[in-house]
Amino acid sequence: MNFDLSPTDREILWKHLQNHVETFYTDTAQLEVAPKLNQQQVQEHINAQSTFSPSEALEHVMEGMTRFAVHTPHPRYFGLFNPRAAFPGVVADTLTAALNPQLAAWSHAPFAVEVENYLVQEMGHRFGYERNSTDGVFTTGGAEANLTAVQLALTHRFPKHNQHGLVEIVKRPIIYTSSESHHSVVKAARVAGLGASSVKEIAVDEQFRMSVPELDRQIKKDIEQGHEPFMVVATGGTTGSGAIDPIEKIAELCQQNNLWLHLDTAYGGAVVLEESTKRLLMGSEKADSITFDAHKWLSMPMSTSLLLTRHPDLLGQTFGISTDYMPKDTTGMAITDPYSHSIQWSRRFSGLKLYLTLRMVGWEGFAALVRQQMQSGNELRKLLTSSGWEIKNQTELPIICFTDPHWATDPNFIPFVCRKVVSSGQA
Ligand SMILES: *Cc1c(COP(=O)(O)O)cnc(C)c1O
Repeated sequence: MNFDLSPTDREILWKHLQNHVETFYTDTAQLEVAPKLNQQQVQEHINAQSTFSPSEALEHVMEGMTRFAVHTPHPRYFGLFNPRAAFPGVVADTLTAALNPQLAAWSHAPFAVEVENYLVQEMGHRFGYERNSTDGVFTTGGAEANLTAVQLALTHRFPKHNQHGLVEIVKRPIIYTSSESHHSVVKAARVAGLGASSVKEIAVDEQFRMSVPELDRQIKKDIEQGHEPFMVVATGGTTGSGAIDPIEKIAELCQQNNLWLHLDTAYGGAVVLEESTKRLLMGSEKADSITFDAHKWLSMPMSTSLLLTRHPDLLGQTFGISTDYMPKDTTGMAITDPYSHSIQWSRRFSGLKLYLTLRMVGWEGFAALVRQQMQSGNELRKLLTSSGWEIKNQTELPIICFTDPHWATDPNFIPFVCRKVVSSGQA
């Protein structure tokens, strides 16, 4: 079987693909934002017919993906944790698929691995880490980054855990995170073998930020009860309301109690790229590790995410492994093989999206994006308030939770409005 197809077929497919993508880019607004959900119809489309010409097959999947999907790139899709994909990122991902570099080992893809290292250093620097002591790795998403952080924290506190596992840890290791944090933290604890009950949810204040006195109380209580607190996950922009936990105060508590501080700033982390907003994450440099999703605010196609740490040896200690079948041609060189730094083994070149975009728009391009969305958020807050809506959350980030004060106490009101809006296909 020749998976290359013929040069003629390739040319036809490229043109067809280009036309479709171009039409999608130009006319996204003409589509319904959300489809009517009908599983039978989707399945019928998928099962339709067994053989197609290459061109018909492409048409078949393009139709499926256009008809049966929420179009997050739509200009009236306002859940901007999943923004419209930046076009340079689309180009980069196409190139990545075609050249298919293998990033497991440095020697197989020196350009790709060095690009990702460069981005790790640059991003770490923007979060306040020192350049020569920053390490990190691209992950599939915030969930994998948070899981990686849990593993780092375990290695840090229980160095023998990598060899002997959790069974030799006598006390129950405890992770703290706010009740508003992302639930990938709970999942990470489960995958790590700690179990969900190792995660203690800390109550939030009236602005949905982790309560530091509550955290302090809970740490003391757990130590008294014979548990072993080892990690706090602070959130820099919660998924529900954009709340930013008091990072510096939490960092102080962590230092006093020898706890690993992880900052989950999957969405909000973008503010460090703009001079006027980086103060919102003040104290980020004190975090032992940081999760940042470039596929959120920075508009990279999925999956583009980063786990950063200011402990340069710890990823290697946690994930390092040596085998006979991996390339050894870099022995003696000061390089790191990503497979020894990561949960993943074979790796896709995720960083290219960010790098190519950066080379086209510069850091200033990302800063401008942050400014523009902060302004839109402020504008929306003003418009909502002046036309009688009530804003329920307090954050400077462009995440706005609002309701009609007249109906706010009716539990059916919000679901009713949401259904109405989404089923209209208009937004
Ligand atoms: C989105 C998000 C995650 C999960 O990230 P994925 O990229 O979806 O895996 C984790 N934490 C926070 C705060 C998030 O907003």
